[in-house]
Amino acid sequence: SLVLVTGASGFIAAHLCSVLLINGYKVRGTVRSTEKGEYLKRLFDGVGDFEYVIVEDIADPHAFDEAVKGVDGIAHTASPFYLDAKTHDELLKPAIEGTVNVMRSAQEFNPHLKRLVITSSVAAVVSPNPSGEKHAGGPPYTMDEDDWNEYSPKVVEEKGVDAPGSDKYRASKTLAERAAWKFMEDNHPSWDFATINPPLVFGPVIHQVESADKLNTSVANFWAYIEGKKTDDDLKESGGNWVDVRDVAYAHYAALTTPEAANQRFIVSAGPFNGQDVVDIIHSFPDQSKRFPHVPVGKPGAGKEINDKANVFKGEKAERVLGVEYKTLRVCVEDMYKSLEEKFDDK
Ligand code: NDP
Repeated sequence: SLVLVTGASGFIAAHLCSVLLINGYKVRGTVRSTEKGEYLKRLFDGVGDFEYVIVEDIADPHAFDEAVKGVDGIAHTASPFYLDAKTHDELLKPAIEGTVNVMRSAQEFNPHLKRLVITSSVAAVVSPNPSGEKHAGGPPYTMDEDDWNEYSPKVVEEKGVDAPGSDKYRASKTLAERAAWKFMEDNHPSWDFATINPPLVFGPVIHQVESADKLNTSVANFWAYIEGKKTDDDLKESGGNWVDVRDVAYAHYAALTTPEAANQRFIVSAGPFNGQDVVDIIHSFPDQSKRFPHVPVGKPGAGKEINDKANVFKGEKAERVLGVEYKTLRVCVEDMYKSLEEKFDDK
């Protein structure tokens, strides 16, 4: 079987390609440059059958017309993830139109497609200002697949380019996922559909990253502890929820191949974390204080209390239906740290 992975050069997508190849699937990845495509070809040399096609602009209505031909499954992961968007459209347009374009091309040019999975986010689940009835009784709040972010799209509609960066990103993910479900309702394509909704994704980096300042947003968040850009003050609050990138990749794979995943949303979350837990783990590594002397210390052991008060995205459905087994934060942080140490050695 052949699976199309859009945005194959990304942090999550590279792991997804790897899981698919290891399980005997052929993979066609879309990338924005030959350089990124060739990097992936080298990475997967000897692992499995990987090819790439260039799709420069996912917002172009015909961007995916060729790429979707002949594949059995599609994972649409490509979407901009950064929090400092300068314009109203720069996240919304590729997020929403990219999603609809993949679906439209699939319907028009691929009569054999069985399943399409999109990478959504808990950004499409959480209401950052939970004041509605459904959220009565908190904080802390517990959110599941029935919850939708009603708030960020409104803020962006009202404030436009002046909306906070986090709401612009959250709105882009919410509206993209809404558009995907609407496409399913309006068009009843022959294939079925699922979404993967992760919180902050950590874990080893295998995609191409030239230097630490080019890291993807979630791993950059971790790197900020290593470089000491986060201070003791940043260790006192919940960091949100987290999940290991390998579990997210596996969840996509399972959602593509498990019959019961059809037409479902899946939160893939290992639960709350905080900076204190992260730095406690980093400080336990041999020799790390010589290599990275600025990692904050905070109050070792104080993380548990922070997590007890934190909002929770329930990740049980992904365990039950997709068979995800969440890695521990320690394993994740260790492997992420090692991968970055290797990547940026001598830099
Ligand atoms: P990356 O930034 O590493 O990957 C994003 C991918 O999308 C890259 O392949 C990138 O291509 C591509 N892309 C971004 N913008 C465009 C665009 N305008 N046109 C074409 N391609 C584009 O991040 P992640 O791997 O973390 O993100 C993958 C998906 O996961 C996204 O949909 C994101 O919203 C979602 N997600 C991520 C979370 C996280 O914590 N990491 C949490 C929840 C959801 P290029 O390499 O050329 O830049």
